[in-house]
Amino acid sequence: MNKTLTIALVAHDQRKADMVDWVKYNAEFLSHHHLVCTGTTGSLIKKAFDELGIKADITCMNSGPMGGDAEIAAMVVRHEIDLAVFLIDDLNPQPHEADIQMLLRQCRIHNVPIACNRISADLMISSTLWDEDSYVPAKQTYKKFDRK
Ligand code: PGA
Repeated sequence: MNKTLTIALVAHDQRKADMVDWVKYNAEFLSHHHLVCTGTTGSLIKKAFDELGIKADITCMNSGPMGGDAEIAAMVVRHEIDLAVFLIDDLNPQPHEADIQMLLRQCRIHNVPIACNRISADLMISSTLWDEDSYVPAKQTYKKFDRK
């Protein structure tokens, strides 16, 4: 891929092992991009890159329950995120459910691709569309609410 993407990576506690495994599987690809993570997920991802001896550009936000998802949602609103991988624990309630829904909602509204399982993430990062200059994502039509 010719572009450098900013990729958000977030995993709930029960999904962190999956995230680390996914990151290791895709480490070479991810090392060419800027990774923005919630706090604990980011520290585990840093450790995984260190173990592999691969340099990575990783920014850690707050821990998810302390506002990390909300910080990443704000980056989505400012068009600072190209792609998000969000491994949600669908089997246990989360204290920051409101922030989780906010991140999902802002990705939908702002047309940011978001993968909630590993196969979606693999398919998204391997798309050749990232390098096709003629590919322009169709804009969402929320005209009624766009008060700019
Ligand atoms: P964490 O946050 O990476 O700091 O655990 C993830 C989340 O719970 O949203």
